[in-house]
Amino acid sequence: MHRHVELPIFVEIGKNVLNKVQVLIENLKVEKIVMLCGKTSYKLAGKEIELIVHPSEVYSLSNPRSEVSKLVAKLSYGDVDCILAVGGGRIIDSGKLLASELNVPLITVPTTASHDGIASPVASFRNEEVFSIFTKPPSAVVADINVISLCPIRLIRAGFGDLISNITAVKDWKLAKDVEQIDYSEIAASIAYMPAEMLLEKTPEIEELVRGLIMSGVAMSIAGSSRPASGAEHKFSHAIDMLGIGNALHGEQVGIGTIIMEYFHEIAYEGDWFKVKESLSRFGCVVKLKDIGISKEDAIKALIKAKSIRPSRYTILDELNPDKNDFEKAIDVTGI
Ligand SMILES: [Zn+2]
Repeated sequence: MHRHVELPIFVEIGKNVLNKVQVLIENLKVEKIVMLCGKTSYKLAGKEIELIVHPSEVYSLSNPRSEVSKLVAKLSYGDVDCILAVGGGRIIDSGKLLASELNVPLITVPTTASHDGIASPVASFRNEEVFSIFTKPPSAVVADINVISLCPIRLIRAGFGDLISNITAVKDWKLAKDVEQIDYSEIAASIAYMPAEMLLEKTPEIEELVRGLIMSGVAMSIAGSSRPASGAEHKFSHAIDMLGIGNALHGEQVGIGTIIMEYFHEIAYEGDWFKVKESLSRFGCVVKLKDIGISKEDAIKALIKAKSIRPSRYTILDELNPDKNDFEKAIDVTGI
């Protein structure tokens, strides 16, 4: 069996590595570079990169989703060789979409570490609804820890939540393999699981967290799906988005979701929800529903809704089929 897998060919993680972008541009032999950047990320890194690589065009996007479609139309006949996306999740996701549409390589320079989209082949957009598009992964990632360290700590903590969610995502994937004999990659599962498991044992440095988030993205490329990093805890998060409740970031929602789903895994087979919760707390992540503006009643609604999201993706919620009372008990026992 053969399947074509695209992976980032160059990943640089470290302090003061922005200048590596130049080496990359030389290696990729690209000339006409279009740079996407947010306002803050321009100040943090974009300006410096602009001086190094002299992109032919620079776009500062304030509303990436709608602006990307216009850019695709505008740049389609412009002989663009490469997209360089400098910024947070929305800028990077816009870069993925644009580079995929134009069929050119993408270089990402993340300025935050709030989720695993840094190197993943998935772009998510949040309009009235949240939807994800499978794209090509970035060809190269340059993650400067000095730059990322300057982003609000809340974003870094959200990144921790998104990474720890691989614990239940991988368990759900294994479960699905056993029950439905779906495609499963041990390599992808291990690459996603190991950095998440590390979070249970120690408080990571930002660099380790960023490395883990990048590995998550690579695992998704190898798997050819988001399965290694998205299980029932992500269904819970999607349900929250669909219901439009609370005020949390993606990584905060899936972090709390991981505690709940680990609780169900512990009941069914094995798990340790307490350890997950403790690790999140130790890193300063939110572990209480009220801290993200969600009442117990709404959380139960979201959990019930989560059961019907993407039914083809078998998870612990299908295995145990918990009802309203079970969800209430899960919330009470875990003290979230
Ligand atoms: Zn996620």
